[in-house]
Amino acid sequence: SLFHLVASSLLLVTMSKERSENGVQHLARTDPLTGLHNRRSFLESGARRLAHGLRQARPVCVLMIDIDHFKEINDQRGHQAGDEVLQSVASALTKGLRPGDLCGRLGGEEFGCLLMDCASVQGREAAERLRTAIETDIGGLTVSVGVACTTDIPAAVDLRRMLVAADRALYASKDEGRNRVTLATAA
Ligand code: GH3
Ligand code: MG
Ligand code: MG
Repeated sequence: SLFHLVASSLLLVTMSKERSENGVQHLARTDPLTGLHNRRSFLESGARRLAHGLRQARPVCVLMIDIDHFKEINDQRGHQAGDEVLQSVASALTKGLRPGDLCGRLGGEEFGCLLMDCASVQGREAAERLRTAIETDIGGLTVSVGVACTTDIPAAVDLRRMLVAADRALYASKDEGRNRVTLATAA
């Protein structure tokens, strides 16, 4: 009947509108080069997960990972090769983490991961595992990592503070010669 025709057309229009809105949202949250969460999406989802973990008194770790001497790769092998390295790092991270872990590209050649139910010992182990996986998978590429665990950071209520702590630990890794993992301690 005409009624059914109109009703089902309306339904189709609504459904395809929803689908394209989902598509737009997905694009707005995704880093186009690597397919990981972009910075904004990492901060949004990460804040939600952190709050959830703290409410339930479960430990959460934040990892910040920065490629060592990445500028040299660009300078020696070109920007395209640099982009491919970024994609390889992204897939090594995804492969090396659990499906539920959050992973994003925070900017340039810097990545962030958030691991739920993860105490500092496991956080350091995960970081070390990712560091070695990248080194073996991507022709000796090295990364420096900073790890912050909610159990060690007094002001852990705020994802930004966790990232500041992880960033400080990352810079300690750089200072001590790169290609290593540093655990953030209470400052
Ligand atoms: P460090 O070991 O201290 O981290 O040194 P670095 O060379 O990795 O760090 P630096 O911050 O000096 O250089 C980062 C480089 O990353 C410079 C910039 O051109 C490059 N970069 C940032 N975003 C992209 C990108 O999307 N693609 C490519 N190919 N390069 C990028
Ligand atoms: Mg770097
Ligand atoms: Mg950097």
